[in-house]
Amino acid sequence: MFDNLSDKLDKALHILKGHGQITEVNVAETLKEVRRALVDADVNYKIAKEFTATVKEKALGQNVLKSLKPGQLMVKLVKDELTELMGGDVEDIDLSGKPSIILMSGLQGSGKTTFSGKLANFLATKKTKKPLLVACDVYRPAAIDQLHVVGDQIGVEVFSDRGNNDPVAIAKAGIAHAKENGCNVVIIDTAGRLAVDEVMMTEIANIHEAITPNETLFVVDSMTGQDAVNTAKAFNDVLNFDGVILTKLDGDTRGGAAISIKSVVNKPIKFIGTGEKMEAIDVFYPSRMADRILG
Ligand code: GDP
Repeated sequence: MFDNLSDKLDKALHILKGHGQITEVNVAETLKEVRRALVDADVNYKIAKEFTATVKEKALGQNVLKSLKPGQLMVKLVKDELTELMGGDVEDIDLSGKPSIILMSGLQGSGKTTFSGKLANFLATKKTKKPLLVACDVYRPAAIDQLHVVGDQIGVEVFSDRGNNDPVAIAKAGIAHAKENGCNVVIIDTAGRLAVDEVMMTEIANIHEAITPNETLFVVDSMTGQDAVNTAKAFNDVLNFDGVILTKLDGDTRGGAAISIKSVVNKPIKFIGTGEKMEAIDVFYPSRMADRILG
């Protein structure tokens, strides 16, 4: 994960570690390399520029050049700033509803259905909840089948209504079903399209308005790089979602989405998907991710 970025940052920071004496010139040189590494990893140029400007300011403020271990201090500053950029503190999901309603949004293929299953499994095993999965994709019968397969796999009930083409009605019926059957979390999987379009946005906005979820999550494929950030912005403008799920971090993603999303939409990444299996889900810890990136 993020091997390329890690290598480049490591090389950039080595410039500092290698110098006998650290000067303003080689700090500037290092930060330029850090910025280049971030941009190569698909981090938006403006974000990368602000990032290095902040690190520079802090380095000057803390008199890094006069410290005993300037190289180490610079690495720490970069790591702290990376953590901050990715979200700072760990965010939980709101499970206070009776039942708690979690609405999944995102493009087709982003990993919504897979993640709905992973989250149901995670909540059932780790937080001893009784989830219900609700299939609201009324366009693709295969999507309903897929959710049933996932539900069977993890032993979680799936509510669907084949032939009903009103996702709002299905979502409401699913919530009523959960209440009648003692399910305390309802995870609503919705239809996505290949690109952002008005019909999809109107539909998800209608569902959102009708069921007032405790938690609206936006699922995005980390492999889509800068597009992930643009899609996040489009969905956030309509849904004002609560958190981001970054999927496919096990692939050869360059990592830019993980680093930029928080600062563009100001919403935390809450979970990451790291594989196709139901167990391949992790709570997102910005500081752990920064550690991983900086090796
Ligand atoms: P949806 O259209 O948004 O519901 O997306 P799906 O859940 O059907 O996922 C699309 C494809 O991505 C499927 O082949 C999944 O197995 C795969 N997928 C989902 N999440 C991950 C992940 O975290 N890692 C990997 N490698 N594949 C994933």
